[in-house]
Amino acid sequence: MSIKNEIERIKATLTPEAKLIAVSKTKPIEMLQEAYDAGQRLFGENKALEMRDKHLALPDDIKWHFIGHLQTNKIKYIIDYVTLIHSIDSLNLLKEVNKEAAKKNRVVDCLLQFHIASEDTKFGLSMDEAEDLLQSEEYKAMANVRIVGVMGMATFTSDVQQVRSEFASLKGIFTSLKEKYFSEMPAFAEISMGMSDDYPIALEEGSTLVRVGSAIFGARNYNI
Ligand SMILES: *Cc1c(COP(=O)(O)O)cnc(C)c1O
Repeated sequence: MSIKNEIERIKATLTPEAKLIAVSKTKPIEMLQEAYDAGQRLFGENKALEMRDKHLALPDDIKWHFIGHLQTNKIKYIIDYVTLIHSIDSLNLLKEVNKEAAKKNRVVDCLLQFHIASEDTKFGLSMDEAEDLLQSEEYKAMANVRIVGVMGMATFTSDVQQVRSEFASLKGIFTSLKEKYFSEMPAFAEISMGMSDDYPIALEEGSTLVRVGSAIFGARNYNI
């Protein structure tokens, strides 16, 4: 079971609109290089400094996706090269990303992260919070960020029906935001959902970005 085989196996299951993000957090450079050599170009990390170090060590044509909770004082470590920030969960965070992106003359693509799981430990906005953000004058004045879709994580459960309905609810959120705020913006097209244990369900429910880690690189060991 090699990294290459796993990537090819997962890619073969993707729908035409979906892409695979290889979630390489905690994994060493050599394993990312192996995935790169197998043709993988989209990588996901959840720690800003770790992503910065890996970005410096690996080829320039990698697209780096930031998928974790982002602290405002760490934005500077990712802002020059990040392709997509999946985890915008407050107006304040978006404001800080906008400010740092302006310093680098970039427009940085972002997703609004929604709380769709039943656990209360997972970060994310409610629909009301998202609408407050999108209707705020502060958001409307931001020239250096572009919201291109939504992200969410399902409950960690073996109840497939629950997971499916949480993904369906994220798709519903995407559709209503698209109609109400982004109907003139074709770039608002991304639904980031699905991880190693649930990406097949996420694909059936309309995911465009699956974030898969352990199914490609093996289980993570946080004690090393
Ligand atoms: C770690 C992580 C993943 C990948 O998890 P696996 O279960 O290893 O596939 C996906 N999304 C986010 C936000 C993560 O933090």
